[in-house]
Amino acid sequence: MPISHPKKRALENLLNNCSPLIYIMANKIEIPKWLQFRIYFSLIITTLLFISVYVALFRIGGWISIWWETPELYNSFGFGLVIIGLIPLIYALSVKSGEQGFEAKEKDFPELFKCVREIAGEFNIKMPSKILILPTEEIFVTGVFSKKIGVGIAGLRAITNEELKAILRHEFGHFYGNDTIFGSILSRIQISLESSSKFGKSWWDAIPLMEIAIIGLIIAGFSKAYSFIFRVIISIYSRQVEYRADYVASIKSGKETFGNALLNYSAYTTYFGQVGYNSVVQLLLEGKAFMNIYDSVYQAYEKEDAKNLKKVVFESDKGSIFSSHPKLRKRLKKINLNPDSLKVSNKIKNSAISLISKRKQVEEELTQVITNNLHVNLLYADAVSREGKCRYCGEQFEQLQDLLEHEEHCESKE
Ligand SMILES: [Zn+2]
Ligand SMILES: [Zn+2]
Repeated sequence: MPISHPKKRALENLLNNCSPLIYIMANKIEIPKWLQFRIYFSLIITTLLFISVYVALFRIGGWISIWWETPELYNSFGFGLVIIGLIPLIYALSVKSGEQGFEAKEKDFPELFKCVREIAGEFNIKMPSKILILPTEEIFVTGVFSKKIGVGIAGLRAITNEELKAILRHEFGHFYGNDTIFGSILSRIQISLESSSKFGKSWWDAIPLMEIAIIGLIIAGFSKAYSFIFRVIISIYSRQVEYRADYVASIKSGKETFGNALLNYSAYTTYFGQVGYNSVVQLLLEGKAFMNIYDSVYQAYEKEDAKNLKKVVFESDKGSIFSSHPKLRKRLKKINLNPDSLKVSNKIKNSAISLISKRKQVEEELTQVITNNLHVNLLYADAVSREGKCRYCGEQFEQLQDLLEHEEHCESKE
């Protein structure tokens, strides 16, 4: 056995000891400079805007003190208005977003957990504390302290397991960039501006004394204007972090896999949104309902012409200044794929729905959730069209629930 050179041994030891460091470096994803710049830039602008809201409130307070001929109270009025302005923000921080669907437990959905855990491992990111299964087509992540991942089952039939993994890598790309934390802060500021605007409006409506009432009008106009600018900037930020998550997913999955995942998923969810929900409404109007909407819609989808599906998905993808996601075409181009050379595949053999244990039961239960939601929407739209009046006796109601209960037992009913 040859005696190993001490220097070589030292080098090996060094390399072995350094391996965690090398591992971390290998795990770090080089994000393109232009993208990083756009993300930081939009964050800086939002921060400045946010600070300027309170500076402006202070000034307005001071200005009111002069207008009321008590200029010695300039600062008190200024701080007073800043404090009033902080109330909606505190309120917005306490707002909990409503959860749809249900929480998946590992013992019931072992395959799904295995898949998510595998992706979490790739990123060296902690497993989300909750996996939600939703009746819709959305797949998303949220959470500031405890992370959640939402998996809508509606789109899973249209993508393969590998494609689902690519989409999950996009979602973990959001965790990687801390997008759920910044996103949550920004959306709460947005909510606070909207509630300030409502508050100002009701102040104006409630107070008869013009000189005091006008403060409400100022608050309302001011927060409305800010809210608009904020929404535009937040949307720009949101689209940039989508590009980043796409980039991360395309590096980790290969751009073709991710690109196909994105196209197939969008093509089907567009179809589901247009055909699926409409068919539920159609059936409801006939007094019927789907047993399993996911199965029925996918069967219809398989019969569609793939070229046409591709045309429809690009055509119905209209971006606006308030879009949270960039247009599909742009997203594909940004990961260096040519949208025109990609094909929609609408005949998937082993789709990602196989990760959902007892899928038939889950799908049938969630079909009922979708049906009930749409049913309530229909009843509501119907009640609105009658301005909340009973269809039999014409009695007026404020709440949909009260109207429905009354109509069921209405005496004028034949
Ligand atoms: Zn995303
Ligand atoms: Zn009645």
